Amino acid sequence: MKLFFLGHMAWAYVWAIIVLAVISRGKPHEKLFVPAVLILGILPDIDLFLRSFGVLHHTFTHSFFFWIVLFVPFLLVFRLKSLPYLAAVVQHFAFGDLLVGKVMILWPFSTAYFGLNIAMPSLLDVALETAGLLLAAAIIIYNKDLKRLLSVDTRNIPMLLPLLALVASMLFFAVDQPIIPLVAYIWSRKLLTILVIDHIILATFLAVSTTQGLRALKARALITTNPPSLKERNKPQLTLHQRRTPSFQFKSYGMYNHKTFDAKTFWLLRSNFSCIAHLTT
Ligand SMILES: [Zn+2]
Repeated sequence: MKLFFLGHMAWAYVWAIIVLAVISRGKPHEKLFVPAVLILGILPDIDLFLRSFGVLHHTFTHSFFFWIVLFVPFLLVFRLKSLPYLAAVVQHFAFGDLLVGKVMILWPFSTAYFGLNIAMPSLLDVALETAGLLLAAAIIIYNKDLKRLLSVDTRNIPMLLPLLALVASMLFFAVDQPIIPLVAYIWSRKLLTILVIDHIILATFLAVSTTQGLRALKARALITTNPPSLKERNKPQLTLHQRRTPSFQFKSYGMYNHKTFDAKTFWLLRSNFSCIAHLTT
């Protein structure tokens, strides 16, 4: 991994939204399935787990052709709708890793590595991660995805997957970090602090979204185990007007006998009565 999972996830969302905006040309469109976008954004780094099979990092899983071939069935079935998801995975190596690392982007036609290969964590790396997070945050608030992703909805449960991947990457980096020379360490301390803050922000968001999904699941389970009784279900529902203004029952007010009034009528009547009472005394 060159960019952190954090940067890959944030930029996956940003690029997927850009592609979605382009293909829908500003018209109303289906919302993105954000957990899938975030997971696709880090999926090329699956080669980290294939080392025992002799697979080197940043090789074929970081190539255009590999992912385009894998996406052919989705492109045939879902057509344009699958493009934001393809963008989420392609940006991983064609944007993030290309800027910060070196990748075999043209495999199998070329085994040459392309990229700027800047050390990590470096100023550019941290700037790219933080810029991605800030941009994603601005978009997610603007397009109301934040509201949707923080609502009590079972569709938010899959946010658990990017959350686990992010936490695992944090632990992986903490354990796998080679001994950094002292000077470089002092310089990078500020950068590391920013990186840690970035990670806490994203992990908190993912954890809250997952919790909201689980809350919805709990509520659904409660309804199925304790369904409302027939009597409760047949209870007449109050109209919106009745809900807004509490009604009062008058049983012996002459011509208004046994009639129901809302609060406004009641206060009108009361003020008239007190007026008459004032005049007669
Ligand atoms: Zn990568």
